Amino acid sequence: MKTSIATVSISGDLREKLAAIAAAGLDGVEIFENDFLAFDGGPAEVGRMVRDHGLEIMLFQPFRDFEGMPDPQRGRTFDRAERKFDLMTELGADTVLVCSSVSPLALGGIDRAAADFRELGERAGSRGIRVGYEALAWGTHISDHRDAWEVVRRADHPNVGLILDSFHTLARGIDPETIRSIPGDRIFFIQLADAPRIDMDLLYLSRHFRNMPGEGDLDVTAFMRAVAATGYDGPLSLEIFNDQFRGGSPRAIAADGYRSLVYLMDRVGRAEPDIRIAAPAMPPRIEAQGFEFVEFAANETEAAELGSLLSTLGFDRAGEHISKDVVLWRQGGINIVVNTDREGFAHSSYLVHGTSVCDIGLKVADANATVARARTLGAELFEQPAGPGELKIPAIRGVGGGVMHFIDAGSDLGRVWEVEFKPAGEGAAIREAGLTRIDHIAQTMNYEEMLTWLLFYTSIFETGKTPMVDVVDPGGLVRSQAIENEDGSLRITLNGAENRRTLAGHFLAESFGSAVQHIAFACDDIFATAANLKANGFRPLEISPNYYDDLAARFGLEDDLLSRLRVENILYDRDDNGEFFQLYSRNYGEGFFFEIVERRNGYCGYGAANAQFRIAAQKRQLRPKGMPRV
Ligand code: MG
Ligand code: MG
Repeated sequence: MKTSIATVSISGDLREKLAAIAAAGLDGVEIFENDFLAFDGGPAEVGRMVRDHGLEIMLFQPFRDFEGMPDPQRGRTFDRAERKFDLMTELGADTVLVCSSVSPLALGGIDRAAADFRELGERAGSRGIRVGYEALAWGTHISDHRDAWEVVRRADHPNVGLILDSFHTLARGIDPETIRSIPGDRIFFIQLADAPRIDMDLLYLSRHFRNMPGEGDLDVTAFMRAVAATGYDGPLSLEIFNDQFRGGSPRAIAADGYRSLVYLMDRVGRAEPDIRIAAPAMPPRIEAQGFEFVEFAANETEAAELGSLLSTLGFDRAGEHISKDVVLWRQGGINIVVNTDREGFAHSSYLVHGTSVCDIGLKVADANATVARARTLGAELFEQPAGPGELKIPAIRGVGGGVMHFIDAGSDLGRVWEVEFKPAGEGAAIREAGLTRIDHIAQTMNYEEMLTWLLFYTSIFETGKTPMVDVVDPGGLVRSQAIENEDGSLRITLNGAENRRTLAGHFLAESFGSAVQHIAFACDDIFATAANLKANGFRPLEISPNYYDDLAARFGLEDDLLSRLRVENILYDRDDNGEFFQLYSRNYGEGFFFEIVERRNGYCGYGAANAQFRIAAQKRQLRPKGMPRV
């Protein structure tokens, strides 16, 4: 199936839009009339520009307030249509979208509308143009695709067909299964959009909050399955009105659009194996089996500081790389790599971002299949020359230009630690602290990037998303949403900062781009862990005593438990399943930190209710160094 996007969906002038759309790999565009009107070249030039980019004009839109007009407005409406047909001919566009009338003058009546369309079809047909009719969810008389189809059916003209838009069907709660009874060859065009489930006026939701299929809460897959069942094989086109997208990077938004369409076709192809749909061939969504490693890029001084922090956390200096300045720290199933080598990706990452996480290794069943799927979805592959004795490990680019490596047990990759590392000398005498695995990794980014990375993770990996929560920082709001798999072995929280006065925003500015802001380690007994950490000289983040007074009131905890929490600076939360305990390190650098958690009885959150108290404590600690007082 051909892929397309409406020019209105992304930012920039028409030239920038077309360059971004072509670069993303889409086949064509819907020319939104205002984008043409704002352009300083004529229609023939626009048509040429589109074709020079290797793109096709799939649709010209919108033609408004056409059907049901009384005289004398009716005559003028047809004149207006003729002028649009002239323009389309010069552009080289052969299909026009007519959306259902919102004019208060429009008279109702399916037959009247059908007669108007039959006449329009006659005029369009003589010029080789096709007319598609779309029901707007807020149309005066026609607001449901079933009624629009009835108009098209009665118009009974080969140049008049139906246009379906997933937003108008799904946002109004119309069952998409009703599409299955429409003949596929009477559907001229499919527009796709998702949206968050927010209770607001549909027109406002549509104009400002639409997003790419898979980014919102509408069941676009069910809509598209029904469309595929009709035999429709025309273009799939994104029509996304979104304030953020219109202010975002044209290239990034166009790439998200391409990814969302490929992922949608993949879902439809798998859900409807009996229906032929030209979905790109790729392995199914990848089951991640947890984090294999996290790698920091650092200079020598900071590596020594980070090493001593890891020591107090109970990590053993377990290995040194056979040929590079790279040290492996290990505890339980956690591998932390600290890279101070002066060559390679880690070093260039260090030069840009300072000491930070540059690489995340994920355990998967098949590393090559993972990269194959990611590549089909438009992810950028990562490669650097392997040194002598090093394994070639499949990798892609992830958040903030960082790298994600994939390790599987079925190949040599599963032995990377034995092959590439030799035992390190005796480290400091430290107590193992009972940290077992990485519970979650938190990535901080600009709020505008959250949908991009949400789609990235959910399209490649077998994961779901939690609802977005607002975290109150004294300097502003931070939005937080988690990507997680069924068994909890992969949990990544995405945190979107809107300004630099928040701890997240400050961290973002200081690390020059999106980055991992905290790593949470799991343990089985937080109090035993806290005792061992103390023996190692670990200094936890100090939590305000006021927090514990409130905790007693909120949960009715026993005095004994409460005083242990208070003494150890442990935060507490509870959900319908179980309990959650959190202990934080102090900030390392400008806002990076470690977290230690214990989940009891299947608690499945991240302690969002505690975040604001943790942030306040962190800001107290950062002051007066760089953090603004708020
Ligand atoms: Mg539409
Ligand atoms: Mg956390």
